[in-house]
Amino acid sequence: MTQQNNVVVSDTKSEVVAQNKPPPPPGGGGGGGYISITRRSILKNLEINGGGGGQRVNGWIESMRAASPTHPSLSQGQTSWILHHPSALDMFDQIIEASKGKQIVMFLDYDGTLSPIVEDPDRAFMSNTMRKTVRKLARCFPTAIVTGRCKDKVYNFVRLAELYYAGSHGLDIKGPTRSSKYNKDMKAEALLFQPASEFLPMIDEVYQKLVDKTKSIAGAMVENNKFCVSVHFRCVDEKKWSEQAHIVKSVLKGYPKLHLTEGRKVLEIRPTIKWDKGKALEFLLESLGLANCSDVFPVYIGDDRSDEDAFKKLRDRGQGFGILVSKFPKETSASYSLQEPKEVMDFLQRLVEWKKVSLRARSRV
Ligand SMILES: [Mg+2]
Repeated sequence: MTQQNNVVVSDTKSEVVAQNKPPPPPGGGGGGGYISITRRSILKNLEINGGGGGQRVNGWIESMRAASPTHPSLSQGQTSWILHHPSALDMFDQIIEASKGKQIVMFLDYDGTLSPIVEDPDRAFMSNTMRKTVRKLARCFPTAIVTGRCKDKVYNFVRLAELYYAGSHGLDIKGPTRSSKYNKDMKAEALLFQPASEFLPMIDEVYQKLVDKTKSIAGAMVENNKFCVSVHFRCVDEKKWSEQAHIVKSVLKGYPKLHLTEGRKVLEIRPTIKWDKGKALEFLLESLGLANCSDVFPVYIGDDRSDEDAFKKLRDRGQGFGILVSKFPKETSASYSLQEPKEVMDFLQRLVEWKKVSLRARSRV
């Protein structure tokens, strides 16, 4: 990592690795047993695209579909899924019990978690009530936004200076610009960590190429998220998904140091370095001086494939837990579920209320 103004230097090393094939989708299961992708739809796509290169493109498309189901799977499967990933609201008392005596640290994804998924990603605003809730949350616990979006863009949506922000899937991390009781002991007031800064010119180039080449596809949107380029499919007719994915593939061919991941109606191109939302979570815990504490209780809430890296990290650490935001069963390493951003807000409000009550009780003692 390079030294910059106001940089906290971490021991964490970024590593460039050879890239010959796309990595397996995070979560490992490619959708798993709970996602209803019909054999017919896969075969239909293979027919459209033929074999060879088309197969990889189909893999991306099926993976995107699996990450963005629009109808529930078999009701029996849904019941069993809820049993394994109960509502965090229903389990609130048990969650609080498990966190007793520990420092709760909150990690929140943005799109689909704090704001609804909307057709135009530039208009994914969060409600004022949600903003107020997150502000109160940050007064009670260290709180970070961890997103695939460009850090500055998500900051413009959230507009809370007291939070940590990890943009571009954790490739662009910034600490609070307003001090709080959680960061007053930090060596530098502004924490900044960019493990992939040498990729910036390459990412810009790929962004421009994709904008030019997808112009002919109605509804196609390409977003420059600074350290990652997102190609959105949400406004593109499904019949055109394959064509758009082929364009992405043809552009990516010239950049072996970049790789592709699939999300909710989005393909994302990122630097091939060993860094993800899980590593960002660990880096932020380290920055807070909590990485090696046994009494830390991180809670990560997210709705996307890329959040699975963070859910897995928490399972590996054996600390805290992940909450998946989803109305439908999905293969996940999260422990609990919430159905939509409104439920996320209810959960966060309950946490704030609980903290207030417990502080009042403590001050009486
Ligand atoms: Mg999301």
